[in-house]
Amino acid sequence: MLKGAYRWTASLRFTLGSLIREGLHLKLHGFSAVLLMAFSFAAYAQSSVPVRLNVDLTDAPRKIIHARMTMPVHPGPMTLLYPKWIPGEHEPDGPITDLAGLVFTANGQQIPWVRDDVNMYAFHITVPQGVSTLDIKLDFLATAPPSGFSAGASTSASLALLSWNEVVLYPSGTKPSQVQVQPSIKFPEGWQFGTALTKTGEANGEVQFAAVPLNMLIDSPVLAGRYFKEIPLATDVTPKHYLDMAADGPEDLAIKPQLVDAFSKLVRETGVLYKSRHYNIYHFLVTLSDDVAHFGLEHHQSSDDRVGERTFIDDNLSYLEADLLPHEFTHSWNGKYRRPAGLNHDDYKDPMIGNLLWVYEGLTQYLGDVLAARSGIETDDQFRSSLAATAPPPWTPVPDAPGAICRTRRPPRKSFMTPVRSGTTGGATRIITPRAS
Ligand SMILES: [Zn+2]
Repeated sequence: MLKGAYRWTASLRFTLGSLIREGLHLKLHGFSAVLLMAFSFAAYAQSSVPVRLNVDLTDAPRKIIHARMTMPVHPGPMTLLYPKWIPGEHEPDGPITDLAGLVFTANGQQIPWVRDDVNMYAFHITVPQGVSTLDIKLDFLATAPPSGFSAGASTSASLALLSWNEVVLYPSGTKPSQVQVQPSIKFPEGWQFGTALTKTGEANGEVQFAAVPLNMLIDSPVLAGRYFKEIPLATDVTPKHYLDMAADGPEDLAIKPQLVDAFSKLVRETGVLYKSRHYNIYHFLVTLSDDVAHFGLEHHQSSDDRVGERTFIDDNLSYLEADLLPHEFTHSWNGKYRRPAGLNHDDYKDPMIGNLLWVYEGLTQYLGDVLAARSGIETDDQFRSSLAATAPPPWTPVPDAPGAICRTRRPPRKSFMTPVRSGTTGGATRIITPRAS
């Protein structure tokens, strides 16, 4: 995760203890937690039939995203969850307040739902006898302001970044990695898209993707837009890497060849530095828009990189974001393929333990900065200037306080027209709660 000049990340272990705690939180109708979980397991029918998730982005320019799910179930009480703890954001910021229009049906009959008294991310239903398929309809109101992370503004009149966690429910008591999902998307006419998901076809105006586990789906956002360009990077390297750009206007896509060459060199430099490639494909999903939140969010086979509209056509703006792609790309190794135990998240309902965020984020920031210089995204002088802005003392010991982490507040990068000089800018240190901003 990178926000402005910082980057930070998130998880939880799935144990019987956590199951019971979740059950206690749900406190459904006075039944014991164990009984509740037994019911939840009973109602979701794990089978070779995947959950179908159809997303309609045609109203994204109006800031509404529609979704329909079809889920195999058994009769009985069932609890469905909306993802709460979002990987890479290190906090329980799943945008539950923007979920709307929730309707459950089966065999054409509407099924009433009740939100849990305590957990606002949990919805209780009773699947009627004779029902084997549950239909879910929901809307996501993409009306958030352009601030924060993935729950912030993600659409404009000409583009959209789809974060799957915003348009999905999953059965409580089942690990997301055990829920197979068959996704599809209906795009506005003329829009193109980029994603690490595998396209399998098109039918009825929808693009179909290969079924993947829910955790992989949520880790595979989709960038789409009217003004879109995909550029292969470092074509001599396997697996394949792509720079996908969606912008507010066609002129914003006129990226300079030198910058494309630098991004290709970034791919090659990671081969030299990390000596491994653990992914099947990698997509840099770059949103170039002044109407969306600006940050970076890492994924295993892609990164969600959101910057100003003119970033790739203005040398000064490019420099100010020079460390963004190298940082998020590095997270695929440090944070996704390998991650601190407390951040090894396997259920979005569970808290993430962030005591090793300094490895997840601190090391990634350093390596990303090194890669930005090695690849030529920034010059040696620019790298040294930004390093000088980061490095000066005072350093403050990490406090031994639950939930608190210490980090050096890095001053925003300065324009290369007025380079920061060593010793003229001091880093300020502050204590923060796990808010990655
Ligand atoms: Zn980060």
